[in-house]
Parts: sequence; C-alpha cells; structure tokens
Amino acid sequence: MSLSTLKVRTYGDPCLRKKCVPVKEVGSSERMVMNAMIETMHQSKGVGLAAPQVGITQRFFVADVDDGPMVIINPEIVKRGGSCLLEEGCLCLPEVTIIVKRAEEITVNYTDENNQSMTLTCNGLLARVIQHETDHLDGVLIIDYATDEEKAQFGEQLERLKAQQKE
Ligand SMILES: [Zn+2]
Repeated sequence: MSLSTLKVRTYGDPCLRKKCVPVKEVGSSERMVMNAMIETMHQSKGVGLAAPQVGITQRFFVADVDDGPMVIINPEIVKRGGSCLLEEGCLCLPEVTIIVKRAEEITVNYTDENNQSMTLTCNGLLARVIQHETDHLDGVLIIDYATDEEKAQFGEQLERLKAQQKE
C-alpha cells in the first residue's frame, strides 16, 4: 500500500503567509489528507508538517517526535513557561536554520483526529514543534525571527527560493 505524498510548498508560496481558518469537523476525507501529511512528513524526515505547507489553509498540523504521529487540530496555546533558544529548520525553507526563542513548556488545547477535545502539557522537542507549527497556521515562518546577521547569511538562499516560485 502506498499513500500519496503531498508537495511541500516552499518560501515565496503565498499559502505560507495566509492566516488559516479553523477546521469544523474531521471526516473521512480530512483523515485521508491527514494521513497523507503524516506520510509526507516521514518521507521528508520532518518532525512536523502544517496544513498550509501543503497548500491547505486550515488550522491543523501533524507531528512526530519519535512517539508516533499526532494530529493537532485548531490548537490554542493557553499557557507558556520558561524560554529557550534553539536552532530550527523548516521544510519550506531548505538549507535555512534560524535560532528561535520559544517557551520551554506549553499547555495546548486542541482537537484530535477523532474530534475529541484534548489538553496537553509538554516540553522539550514536542513543545517546540507545536509552537513552530502553530506559527505556520498564522502565516509566521522562522525567518520572521531572524536577526540581521541571519537575514544576511541566508539572503541569497531566500532569493533563490522566491525565484523558483516564478518558474
Ligand atoms: Zn516549518
């Protein structure tokens, strides 16, 4: 059996800058898309993939930090504690890494793929992935956190990615 994988959009694609709309209900067609996103994330060796990264401007993402895949729908980060700096990459920004300051521990309310309301408190990599992916749902990318030095360092790569959009 092979699930279809989806095309991951790259920097410059207008989808990545949209504010995504809430998901009303998860049915079988939504679940199919979510499974394809999990497959795409695994194939791309990512730890998270948000819907707008594959051109769907709805508020959900998939994540897998080696505990098995999770689907997180309509996330609301309701509590943040501590802060830490860590280098992040993004499937939409190949070859770009930016040091991003994020909360160390978060509590997130969300809906899962079975339309169940969930609350999760987590830290470490999962907390970071959830914050990164939730940013995507608001059209925010890691380069928005870049220092002037990082912008200069990755400027050419960003221009290259933007130029590819026009091809
Ligand atoms: Zn990303």
